[in-house]
Amino acid sequence: MSILPAKSQVVIIGSGIIGAAIAYYLTQKGLRDVAVLEAGEIGAQGATSACLGGLRTQFSTAINIRFSLISREVFRSFKDEFGVDLNFKPYGYLFLAKTEEQWAAVENTSNLMETLDLPVELLTPRAMARRWPFIRVDDLVGGSYTKDDGFYGPIEALQAFVKKARQGGALFLERNPVVGFSISDQKAMGVKTQSGHEIKADIVVNAAGPWAGEVAALAGLALPVAPLKRHLFFTAPFDAIPDAFPVIIDMDSGCYLKREGRGLILGGPTGERSFSQNVDFNAEERTAFESIRRVPVLEQARMVRGWAGHYEVTPDHHAVIGAFPELTNFICATGFSGHGFQHSPATGKIVAELIVDGRAETEDIHPLRPTRFRENDLIHEPMTAFRS
Ligand SMILES: Cc1cc2nc3c(=O)[nH]c(=O)nc-3n(C[C@H](O)[C@H](O)[C@H](O)COP(=O)(O)OP(=O)(O)OC[C@H]3O[C@@H](n4cnc5c(N)ncnc54)[C@H](O)[C@@H]3O)c2cc1C
Repeated sequence: MSILPAKSQVVIIGSGIIGAAIAYYLTQKGLRDVAVLEAGEIGAQGATSACLGGLRTQFSTAINIRFSLISREVFRSFKDEFGVDLNFKPYGYLFLAKTEEQWAAVENTSNLMETLDLPVELLTPRAMARRWPFIRVDDLVGGSYTKDDGFYGPIEALQAFVKKARQGGALFLERNPVVGFSISDQKAMGVKTQSGHEIKADIVVNAAGPWAGEVAALAGLALPVAPLKRHLFFTAPFDAIPDAFPVIIDMDSGCYLKREGRGLILGGPTGERSFSQNVDFNAEERTAFESIRRVPVLEQARMVRGWAGHYEVTPDHHAVIGAFPELTNFICATGFSGHGFQHSPATGKIVAELIVDGRAETEDIHPLRPTRFRENDLIHEPMTAFRS
């Protein structure tokens, strides 16, 4: 176990992709005195370890789209900045709408994207059947397709952020769960670890992913971020459909399908709000049923492995970035609700600005403030890759 410092200007809780990106951008701004406390080991647990690395521009709110665009700039020049190839797979994203309500969400999204000059195609069922004849379309109202979206290597990105942040002076302290805080005058003065150590801090960042609600509760704050279990299943090599096709998100079932090497990944149903990692038999059966219903030729596919990860979800499926007035130096950066990988560079930049410059220049983050829940000022995002 590493020797813990007595004081650090910034203590970040969690070394998933969000904590690591924040640490990196802080060091880029010249702030070297950063300690990242991680309960487990870097990349070994948490949402980032289960992540597929997708980045899309199809969101129903301008702020979610902006976060994707800011991050996409970083991912596109990642090799120059970090010397690491994230191996982009330009598969595109296809959302399928079955009900009028889903279609309205898709249309609103496409209208918003057009005002932002972003390419998106609204497709009739017949147009989709022509392009991707393996999809069953007779029960659909339509779909929306973005060809420039795709997938990056999430663990490669995480490792690159960590490596560069370390080079900039940040300490990553693994196997050090945070178990409490010392609080005085509406400030978190220090962070207590399980080993009985306390690190004094000027600023504390809660980047604890699916655990962020629990970590906030340790500081006496009610932050509605909960773990939402998601099943994924991997098939044996499957060549009855083309090698390259968009990730297909069935908005009605909440299931999705994407190419992964010679096989496929089938995104199954979401389950209970818990940290259980068990793969449920029912989830496997339901994934097979929904996948075959949408892509009938999958009847010939064989599932070889299943696993479960956890999204860190908020009630409106938008992130939480900022501090509560009752604990002004405790910055939350969490609640990405399935989009945290693709929004990590934007979040890293913005939180570093908040800490070093006192305000976020890159984007107005007022809509993401943690108090919006108790103020009942939510900004709902219906374009998710799951149903909760
Ligand atoms: C199956 C699946 C697929 C996904 N696919 C995509 C995708 O394609 N595109 C996309 O953008 N997003 C995707 N996501 C979402 C994305 O993975 C998350 O939004 C993102 O990884 C969140 O990162 P994080 O750093 O906030 O959380 P995490 O990666 O969970 O990191 C939090 C860290 O905090 C640590 N921690 C917790 N409590 C404490 C404590 N008390 N003390 C110290 N450390 C603590 C944990 O050990 C953990 O390492 C997916 C998620 C899942 C589950």
